[in-house]
Amino acid sequence: MELIPGSAVVTGGSRGIGRAIALRLGQLGTPVAIGYTRNVDKAEQVAAAIVAAGGKAAAIQVDVSKAEQVDEFIAAASQAVGPIGILINNAGITRDSLLLRLQKQAWADVLATNLDGTFYCTQAVLRGMVKRRSGRIVNIASVVGIHGNAGQTNYAAAKAGIIGFTKSLAQEVAKRGITVNAVAPGFIATDMTASLPANIQDQYLNKIPSGRYGKPEDVAAAVTFFCSASAGYITGQVLSVDGGLSM
Ligand code: NAD
Repeated sequence: MELIPGSAVVTGGSRGIGRAIALRLGQLGTPVAIGYTRNVDKAEQVAAAIVAAGGKAAAIQVDVSKAEQVDEFIAAASQAVGPIGILINNAGITRDSLLLRLQKQAWADVLATNLDGTFYCTQAVLRGMVKRRSGRIVNIASVVGIHGNAGQTNYAAAKAGIIGFTKSLAQEVAKRGITVNAVAPGFIATDMTASLPANIQDQYLNKIPSGRYGKPEDVAAAVTFFCSASAGYITGQVLSVDGGLSM
């Protein structure tokens, strides 16, 4: 698969879905800047794996919920790996609770990382993409942002916000050679879902037509498709990667 020219930024790229996306983009020959918050060792390992396979990569620290850090992060990323053609807004957190008990901080934190972070990173890369008349932005939403989920009002609101953001920006930049799409994973086996109680994990499994949890690589495949040179006529879309869960 041939990707568009330029380097890529993947937020939350040290583990889980972001790691799989970074590795896949690197395999396909795109230089990758891996954003991480705390785990420098894991982020460096992802970068080293890309370099060992003949690619180019750098691990760069950032908290995407802090606008001023994001501007520095994007500047450092383009310095390290070159002008950014691909942005993957993957960083995300959950703070689950039924609404009556939901702490205001848990609401704010989830919106700040998932939605504000997507806005900050996108705004920081967009000017360069507009200048070069080329870009691919892929936002990691969730099936929960489409269908809702009891106990996740904050997360569902953030992910639904990401979908609205995706479709609106897609319209703003379509004539500039930039596509903006979202991938909506279902239940993917990562640290995020490992923390769910076993009975909740089993309930999901029973509802997934494919009969298995998703792998980070399943999501990475959809993301890289949107980044491919031949996907230039696809924009404003939300692609569920969920084994049929949301059918
Ligand atoms: P994960 O917890 O393994 O990874 C999340 C990553 O985001 C981590 O690398 C973490 O360091 C990073 N991150 C968290 N807060 C950050 C911040 N403020 N600034 C920068 N980075 C930050 O989870 P995952 O399952 O790999 O999730 C990746 C994305 O996929 C998230 O957006 C998540 O909401 C979404 N998603 C996951 C699932 C699933 O089933 N695992 C389902 C739907 C959507």
